[in-house]
Amino acid sequence: MCVFCEIIKGNIPSAKVYEDDDVLAILDISQTTKGHTLVMPKKHYETFLDMPEDEYASLMKTVQKLAGQITRNLKANGCNILINTKEAAGQTVMHTHVHIIPRYDSNDTIEIGFKENKFDLSEVLNEIKG
Ligand code: AMP
Ligand code: ZN
Repeated sequence: MCVFCEIIKGNIPSAKVYEDDDVLAILDISQTTKGHTLVMPKKHYETFLDMPEDEYASLMKTVQKLAGQITRNLKANGCNILINTKEAAGQTVMHTHVHIIPRYDSNDTIEIGFKENKFDLSEVLNEIKG
């Protein structure tokens, strides 16, 4: 059973932020910050890499619109847009979704840090390009 498919079907309750024929946006139950929202395609795709390009583009249009609305109306100072892809990246619900996480100040309840590593950039480029 996919918990997000059950939410989409209406079998599990949710706090709906936005809905159209293809997309549902709900408040994340964890509310990492006030207004933390999940935007998902109604069709079940495990990760965003599995989505057809046009469906992904249309999902992200909705994400942009909602991120603006949420940030403005909750008077946030910014937001993080996050897609965890596969377990290694922290994906726990295997129905792709985009996190919109409003940011208020440096003391809010989320910390995203980038630590530095030393890789040979030309080797990395060669590997990416295959
Ligand atoms: P991820 O780690 O990217 O797969 O994120 C899954 C998110 O789904 C987590 O932030 C959970 O808090 C959220 N979540 C799980 N179950 C529900 C639910 N029934 N309603 C709303 N959010 C949920
Ligand atoms: Zn699903």
